Amino acid sequence: HHIIEIEHLRHVYPDGTEALHDVTFSVTHGESVAVIGANGAGKSTLLAHLNGHLLSESGEVRIGHVPVSGATLEQVRRTVGMVFQDPDDQLFMPTVREDVAFGPMNLGITGEELKRCVADALCRVDAEHLAEKAPYHLSAGEKRRVAIATVLSMSPNVLVMDEPTNGLDPYARRQLIGLLKDFRHSKIITSHDLDMVLEVCERTIVLSGGAVRADGPTREIFRDE
Ligand code: ADP
Repeated sequence: HHIIEIEHLRHVYPDGTEALHDVTFSVTHGESVAVIGANGAGKSTLLAHLNGHLLSESGEVRIGHVPVSGATLEQVRRTVGMVFQDPDDQLFMPTVREDVAFGPMNLGITGEELKRCVADALCRVDAEHLAEKAPYHLSAGEKRRVAIATVLSMSPNVLVMDEPTNGLDPYARRQLIGLLKDFRHSKIITSHDLDMVLEVCERTIVLSGGAVRADGPTREIFRDE
């Protein structure tokens, strides 16, 4: 029943920095988990292990019970949808529609099925009306929602999001929180926005110095920290 299992994960960068030191936790289907911690705690390094961007020399990451080390990047990315901190890293096509179609096209989806994937992903982030626009011209909130749609269109089991409310005005932030609460996917969200975490994530993991310092229901973690 676990969609993601991380066991004794350790990561040492080539310069000798130990960014992760024995991290272990699992995420079940449908669970929303926040990963919080100070800058340098190891959050980005952890996320990079979840979509196969980094591979572990020590410990293991399994996605749907398959070790990431033995899976192809395509298999990993079908399961784990990664939304980067900066939407500009995710949007590079002339129109929103093409950006949202890019992932499923790479998975070999075409024709009516492709149209359906794209329409469905845009609908889930309230962005149907933006389909023919150039991503470059969108507002921060619109860009964020479209960046999420580029990942939803591949029907991932897990959404991984790095600081999803970063740079949003209060209105765009509220709108995004409303959408996130409606997603049925498992979610792993790193954030410094603790009010968003409290609303969206039932569970919180506190990373510090590359290790899990606390892991439990968000309300209990916030009470204790
Ligand atoms: P966070 O996302 O929580 O800020 P990071 O995963 O970015 O944490 O960083 C964890 C530790 O690893 C920090 O000490 C950081 O300086 C170091 N680090 C990150 N990336 C690299 C890298 N490419 N090479 C060497 N050290 C790195």
